[in-house]
Amino acid sequence: MASTAGPEIERLIALLSKLPGMGPRSGRRAALALLKKRDQLLTPLAEAMAEAAARVRPCRVCGSLDTAETCAICTDGARDGSLICVVEEVGALWAMERGGAWRGRYHVLGGLLSALDGVGPDALRVNELVGRTSDGAVREVVLALPATVDGQTTAHYLADRLAPTGVQVTSLARGVPVGGELDWLDDGTIAQALRARRPA
Ligand SMILES: [Zn+2]
Repeated sequence: MASTAGPEIERLIALLSKLPGMGPRSGRRAALALLKKRDQLLTPLAEAMAEAAARVRPCRVCGSLDTAETCAICTDGARDGSLICVVEEVGALWAMERGGAWRGRYHVLGGLLSALDGVGPDALRVNELVGRTSDGAVREVVLALPATVDGQTTAHYLADRLAPTGVQVTSLARGVPVGGELDWLDDGTIAQALRARRPA
């Protein structure tokens, strides 16, 4: 990287460039925006990041992120503790919460099984999930995993691991998205939606 700015600014650019969806070009733009808006952006962002780094940690039960040792969802008495929704990462949990339809709890796996990337069950929070379902208090585990090869491999593995516990294991339905036009859908989605059809 051409060192036209001082080392502090170059470091800022280099770090910003590593964020998802960013590269050196957008890293430079973001750094400039921050430096130009010191009071509105740079200082509050630095404070928010320092606070997050100091206080946010994984929930010891579900693996979500919160400032408490056990997260707000796991301690929410209004939620149904007999239902656990398994997600790949915290981002998927946030998406489920935005949907507003899930009133159970969660389990964040921390990734997916992947032969290609050498990710085995021990790298994921699988044993923790089996442990949570072993005391008889959980009646259903909903697998909300991606409709990808790794997602489905992981779902099959989890169903096998959970079978001895006797808990019901289900998966999210796949099909036509809300507001979706049929001629925009890929063939696989249409085929899945047709298989999952139900009485109108
Ligand atoms: Zn939790």
